[in-house]
Amino acid sequence: MCALRVDLDEAVTRLRAGEAVAVPTETVYGLAADARNESALRRIFATKGRPLTNPLIVHIRGREQLTDWAASVPAAATALLDACWPGPLTLVLPARAEVSRLVTGGADSVALRCPSHPLFRELLARFGGALCAPSANRSGYVSPTTAEHVLADYSTEPLAVLDGGACALGIESTIVRPCGDMLDVLRPGAVPVERLRELWSGTVTVPASADVVVPGSAPRHYAPATRVQVVSRTALESAGHDDVVICRGTPPPTCARVECLPDEPIGYARGLYALLRRLDAGGYSRLLVEAVPEQERWQAVRDRLRRAALRR
Ligand code: AMP
Ligand code: MG
Repeated sequence: MCALRVDLDEAVTRLRAGEAVAVPTETVYGLAADARNESALRRIFATKGRPLTNPLIVHIRGREQLTDWAASVPAAATALLDACWPGPLTLVLPARAEVSRLVTGGADSVALRCPSHPLFRELLARFGGALCAPSANRSGYVSPTTAEHVLADYSTEPLAVLDGGACALGIESTIVRPCGDMLDVLRPGAVPVERLRELWSGTVTVPASADVVVPGSAPRHYAPATRVQVVSRTALESAGHDDVVICRGTPPPTCARVECLPDEPIGYARGLYALLRRLDAGGYSRLLVEAVPEQERWQAVRDRLRRAALRR
């Protein structure tokens, strides 16, 4: 019994039957299920091993569906929606009373996103309703960015996977909560904070990178089994025989086993999870990662690296 690729028709059939199906999005692969079906939602938590207190993002086709889930949508969010939907921006809004506690985690808010991936959009259109779709990895592990990653994670379960190729962005959505004049960034992600500042007329508040703001999210997350340490470029030279190094841009001359990611945040984010997964299978004792700049545009990557490096 192992995970298997299915086509769009089969994916729709399974979702209608209340199953969870792994699906491509522009950020990472998601584990999708009917957002109005409690037993389907429970399948997401059971399959991932996700704590029930961790709320789910509802994926909708467009802003016409917003008020099916949100009790109100602030007018100030219009520019954000115009510019970022469909796309990797999740909005946390006051929830309608009938939204399942499995979706909200018991809070009075609901997180909403309108994905841009063409195959996911086609799936949403054919399915007809909304889908919850947290990242398809086992809870706490590195998010999958290809169908092969999902197939590898569920090699002993009959999970259906819709293959849409490699994810274009490779990092999760940015989660924001409008609050009067304020826009709180709850999770840095694929939409840079700089872009939010252009689109929001009030104040954009960004958490210090050490803060965990989203409910239910464990500090250690996005983490390979191999121990990860984030160090300066000069400290990469301390890499031992059994270690492997991830650097930015060009490799330092003295490191033997080294992998490079682009020295800019978009390309870096796109390649990071696939590289972490590949190296995690390599049997190394440590993964030494060159620290990324303290600049705001690196914040989402910095957040993921910091969490990957937390000890269990
Ligand atoms: P993911 O596993 O990437 O889908 O993560 C979804 C994230 O969205 C979780 O970390 C949740 O904490 C966050 N989230 C979902 N719903 C809400 C909500 N109502 N309020 C605040 N954060 C939320
Ligand atoms: Mg996740």
